[in-house]
Amino acid sequence: MELRDLETLFFALQAHAPAMGRTRAAQRIARLRALKKALYLHQPEAHAALRADLNRAEPDTDLNEILPVTTSIDYTIRHLRRWMRPEKHGLPITLIPGSAEVVYESKGVVLIVSPWNFPINLCLVPLVYAVAAGNTVALKPSELSPATSAFLAKLIPTVFPPEEVRVVEGGVEIAKALINQPWNHIFFTGSPQIGSQVMASAARHLTSVTLELGGKSPVIVHPKFGPEIAGARVAWAKGLNAGQVCIAPDYALIRKDQRDAFLEGFKAGVLRHYGERPSENPDFGRIVHERHWDRLDAWVTEVRASGAHVWQVDAPNRSQKYYPLTLVWDAPMDCALSCSEIFGPILPVYTYIETADAIAHVNGGSRPLVLYQLSHDRTWSDGITAATRAGATVINDFYLHYMHPSLPFGGINTSGIGKSHGIWGFREFTNARSVYRRGRWSPTMLLAPPYSDWKKKLIRWITRWL
Ligand code: NAD
Repeated sequence: MELRDLETLFFALQAHAPAMGRTRAAQRIARLRALKKALYLHQPEAHAALRADLNRAEPDTDLNEILPVTTSIDYTIRHLRRWMRPEKHGLPITLIPGSAEVVYESKGVVLIVSPWNFPINLCLVPLVYAVAAGNTVALKPSELSPATSAFLAKLIPTVFPPEEVRVVEGGVEIAKALINQPWNHIFFTGSPQIGSQVMASAARHLTSVTLELGGKSPVIVHPKFGPEIAGARVAWAKGLNAGQVCIAPDYALIRKDQRDAFLEGFKAGVLRHYGERPSENPDFGRIVHERHWDRLDAWVTEVRASGAHVWQVDAPNRSQKYYPLTLVWDAPMDCALSCSEIFGPILPVYTYIETADAIAHVNGGSRPLVLYQLSHDRTWSDGITAATRAGATVINDFYLHYMHPSLPFGGINTSGIGKSHGIWGFREFTNARSVYRRGRWSPTMLLAPPYSDWKKKLIRWITRWL
C-alpha cells in the first residue's frame, strides 16, 4: 500500500465509525460469529502460514493462536449485552432529583498494531474487543511474519466490509505513517522501545493508547518446591515458540545450594519435551529472523567471554534460524542477557540466599509483565507478590492467566499501559461517558447569584452538612 493511500483508508474508516458505533449488540455478535466461522474454515491456511513464518507445530497454532481468539469470541458473545448496558448510578442528595448513568460508547476509529510472535492471536483478540465495542478498525500485522499477514489480509475481507475493518500489510515505514493519523485509540503490542515511540506519536493528537509490551519476567523457585522439577517445568515454558513469548520466563532465581540440581532438571526437561536434538524436531520453533538470531548469538558470545558458564542442547544453526535451548549461569549483571528482554530460548540462572535477595533482584529491574513463582508455600508466595509489582503473577504454572477470559491482561509501566481481555478489553476500546439527567424542576438555580443572605446561609449549610 502506498503511503498516500493510508489517508484515504483512514478517512473511509473514520466516515463509517458513527454508523458502526450505533450498531446493537446482536449486530456486533453476528460479526464475531462470522469471524469465528471464517477462522475454522481457513484453519489449514492458518497452519500453513505459521509453519512458513515460525515453523510452528500445528497443535501449537491451534492452542496458542486459534483457541485464544475463539475463547475471546465466545466469552464476549455471552457478556456483550451486559457490557453494553448503561450502568445506573445512585445520586448523592445534592443531585436529587435526577438520574445518573455511565454509557460505554465506541471510541470511533482505532488502530491495532501487532507483533510477529503470535501473529493471529495478537491481531484478532484485540479486534474482537474493538468490534464488540463498536469501532471501525485498521489492523497492522508485523512484516516479520509475512505469510500470516497475507493470511489475515485474505481472511478479514471475508468477514468485514472494507469500511469496517481493514488489514494494512507493510513494514516500519507504513507503521510510522499509520500511527501519525489522528486515531481515536491505538492498541499496540510490541517492544517497550517502539511502544514509547507510539505513545509519543499518539500524544500529538492526544490519542489514547493501550500498550501491551514486554520485558524480563522472572521465575522464583521456593527452596522446598524441588529444584529438578522446577528446572524441567521451566525448560518446557522456555521452549514454547523457542522462547519468543512476551510472557515467557526470562530468567530464573533459585536458592544457591539448589542451583546445580535445577540445571540438571532443566536439561532433563529439554530431553523429555524436545529430545536430544531439538534441531531435528519438527515441533521446535525457529527464530523469526536472522537479525534476531544474530542478536541472541552475540549475547551468548558476550556472556561466554565474561567467564560465565553456558550449556546448549545442540549447536546453533543460522541458515536454519535454529537456536538451541541454552542455560547460562554465573552471568555478570551488566551483560545484555542480564539487562535486556531475551525473547529466545536462553535461560540465565541467578541465585539467592535469602528470599529478600530474590525480591531485591526483581525490584532492581523494570516491572515485569509476569512474575512467576514455583512454590507450595502460600505465605512465602503471598509475601513475594506483596513486595513486588508486576502485570500479573502466576504460581506453579506458566502462561495460564493469559487463557482466562476475564482476568485483565497487561503490564505496568515499561511492560505495558492499559489492559486487555474480557470486560477490560471491551472498556479499553470504549469511552465511559457520564450522563446526568435533571427532570423538569432544577433546584440548582436556588444557589445561583445574586447571593442574598439566605442563599449564603444555605450554601454554608450544604457545604457543611451534605
Ligand atoms: P516491535 O516493537 O519491533 O514491532 C511490533 C509492531 O510495531 C510491528 O507490527 C512493527 O511493524 C511495528 N513497528 C515497528 N517500528 C515501528 C514504529 N517506529 N512505529 C510504529 N510501529 C512500528 O516488536 P516485535 O519484535 O514484533 O515483538 C517483540 C516484542 O513484543 C517483545 O518485546 C515482546 O515482549 C512484545 N510482545 C508483547 C506482548 C504482550 O501482549 N504484552 C505480546 C507479544 C509480544
